[in-house]
Amino acid sequence: MKRTLLAIATLLATAAAFADYPEKPITIVVPFSAGGPTDKVARDFAEALRKPLKNATIVVENAAGAGGTLGATKVAKAAPDGHTLLLFHIGMATTPTMYRKLNYNVLNDFEYAGMINDVPMTLLGRKTLPANTYPELVKWLQENKGKINLANAGQGSASHLCGLMFQSAVQIDMTTVPYKGTAPAMNDLLGGQVDVMCDQTTNTTSQIAAGSVKAYAVSTAKRVNTPVLAKLPTLDESGLKGFNVSIFHGLYAPKGTPADVMAKLNTALKEALKDPEFIKRQEGLGAVVVTDGRLNPAEHKRFVAAEIDKWGAVIKAAGQYAD
Ligand code: ASP
Repeated sequence: MKRTLLAIATLLATAAAFADYPEKPITIVVPFSAGGPTDKVARDFAEALRKPLKNATIVVENAAGAGGTLGATKVAKAAPDGHTLLLFHIGMATTPTMYRKLNYNVLNDFEYAGMINDVPMTLLGRKTLPANTYPELVKWLQENKGKINLANAGQGSASHLCGLMFQSAVQIDMTTVPYKGTAPAMNDLLGGQVDVMCDQTTNTTSQIAAGSVKAYAVSTAKRVNTPVLAKLPTLDESGLKGFNVSIFHGLYAPKGTPADVMAKLNTALKEALKDPEFIKRQEGLGAVVVTDGRLNPAEHKRFVAAEIDKWGAVIKAAGQYAD
């Protein structure tokens, strides 16, 4: 009896402590470089999330490295009070298979706040590459075997996964050059230090529009209907039958974050995703803001679990592991 009363008292005290959430600035950790595709999603999302969270200050912090696993580790070990959050992507689903040693378990060490968007990828080349179309690119890659540099954002990143699938589909091995995010990788593509890269449209749309890179195709099953991207064929229609890669982003908190804080975060996330400015910016960049059941934590978690199985099989087939 005494114990039960004590437990109830503790619960009430905890609930009272979090009744005013958020009480201080919230940090959203982005596990990739500033200015890249996930960072751009995070900064727009943080802006939209402020209003439903009592106009809280939301700081985006870049904790980049090791394909996103450094930032994810940081949040897994942070205080579970809802003031340190993780905005991560498909790396939630690739890194559990790829990394032999991870300091967290994506399904057990996080509370899920909900999913944010799906982002297509584009296959790009440096501007000085002689190929102007996808068939010309494949011809150039075949003629330059052994000399091709493919940029990515580290093992388990979206660009890594897409690059792996592309190499295996065209059966051409390339030298991969890892960065802490595709923001610095894009700088080197612009400078011509690397030849090709697969990158999310939230980072590539402006470069494609400016004509500073060559764009050959999109990674999704369907074309991407934006003014800048609609002209690009899919890899599937270009001959890589079944090629379909889309990158989700979601919001996560350390395990043990109180249920009422998570409920507030989920409500705020849903509100943020209805923000017309946010929707407009995301749509302009080719991203699809989530409106289905994956807005809900349990369904998003089931989706991530299914993605772990799906991409785990691809990673195992490629024999790509990181220590
Ligand atoms: N999302 C990463 C970034 O923001 C890129 C990637 O995963 O390929 O840099």
